[in-house]
Amino acid sequence: MTVTGAIWRDQLTSDQRAMLGREAGTITNPRPDVLVIGGGILGVAIAASVHGAGLGSVQLIEAGRLGAGATGGATGLLIPEPHQWSDPETFVDLERASLERWRYLDQVTPGGLGLVELDWIGLAPDPGGLAAHQPENVEWLDAAKIAALVPGLAWHMGGALIRHQARVNPLRALVGLADGLPAVGTGVAATAVTIRGERLVSVITSEGEISAGAVVFATGQPPVVDGLEIEIPTDRVKGHLIVTEPANVHLPCTVAPVATPLEDGRLLAGGTFDYGDESPLVREEVVDTIMGGLRAALPGVREVAVSHQWCCFRPRHPDRRPVIDRVPGLRNAWLTSGHFRTGILNAPATGLAITRWISADKPPPEARAWSAARFASRGARD
Ligand SMILES: Cc1cc2nc3c(=O)[nH]c(=O)nc-3n(C[C@H](O)[C@H](O)[C@H](O)COP(=O)(O)OP(=O)(O)OC[C@H]3O[C@@H](n4cnc5c(N)ncnc54)[C@H](O)[C@@H]3O)c2cc1C
Repeated sequence: MTVTGAIWRDQLTSDQRAMLGREAGTITNPRPDVLVIGGGILGVAIAASVHGAGLGSVQLIEAGRLGAGATGGATGLLIPEPHQWSDPETFVDLERASLERWRYLDQVTPGGLGLVELDWIGLAPDPGGLAAHQPENVEWLDAAKIAALVPGLAWHMGGALIRHQARVNPLRALVGLADGLPAVGTGVAATAVTIRGERLVSVITSEGEISAGAVVFATGQPPVVDGLEIEIPTDRVKGHLIVTEPANVHLPCTVAPVATPLEDGRLLAGGTFDYGDESPLVREEVVDTIMGGLRAALPGVREVAVSHQWCCFRPRHPDRRPVIDRVPGLRNAWLTSGHFRTGILNAPATGLAITRWISADKPPPEARAWSAARFASRGARD
């Protein structure tokens, strides 16, 4: 039977699952040094970073359960290098730094974060199909080499191989990071703020008021709360994913655009961009299209059923890059939003950048490219 919902929760232990609903309806610390709003991967990574840096007491609040937004539905790939073909160098640098930070956090977190090292192959009919000029860390493999590496592949095609990328179960990683946090209130929604001059003096939540020294909004898209005017253009892009039952097909690594191998021989496929589809429901026709593509590429999975199917929404700004910034007009509030298709990857570097900014009271170099001001001339949301 196919489960409609991400596989990630099913891979957790019962203790880890319970962590997703931590301290429900409870604000442990109503006067923290730092309040983080949003319990997706960005909010949890920021809170963990601030806590780890010793910037004082930290309270995190999340309207639903931890990872309930885009985070719980992501593919979980941590693959900076393929983005050399699609993203500016400053962005790829952020991604590279973040992957290194993931590796560090995986090492130092008790019990680890479940990071899995893996290589990436991008199939393309010829090297020019990916880029006229191949970056140094890319190995071009001809069709014979690809066939040897991916024996079940029906397509006779070359491809680019990039080594030393990674992936996580996003919920497993999030739970690992949240585990060290002293105060995490799920089921607590921020609804309004009080501002005096250039300071955000209190946050009104569904469970009472919080007065914090510094406030960080990590709400996926920019926060929508009474009393805060944030004019950053934003939308969201739905995507579908599927996981198969264990398959008798060996993929050595992520093979784009075909699939990523998971535990037990399962394959993860999809990651569609369903522009304009605002329905939270899984569409069977999209699932059929993903499975059709997978079966065409890997005939060995023809008889393999779908075990999990789900969809979620990527938060996006018009240039498809995140905002990492102080809230315009406020001295003690920050926000990060619009991480689109790389929020899992970029969470640790973003957490570090915001921690440094709060600590030094000036923007760290790695945050400068991601200011909200770049949208100023565009005016209101589009
Ligand atoms: C199909 C798909 C595949 C993806 N694959 C990858 C991938 O392989 N690698 C990668 O790096 N990224 C991937 N992404 C992107 C990634 O999922 C997102 O960029 C990332 O999860 C965004 O995290 P976030 O914490 O900003 O937002 P979210 O996870 O949406 O978290 C925001 C949280 O804030 C809470 N919140 C909002 N408002 C309030 C409020 N007022 N008070 C309290 N809480 C509030 C919400 O309930 C939510 O839980 C993928 C996304 C999709 C949809």
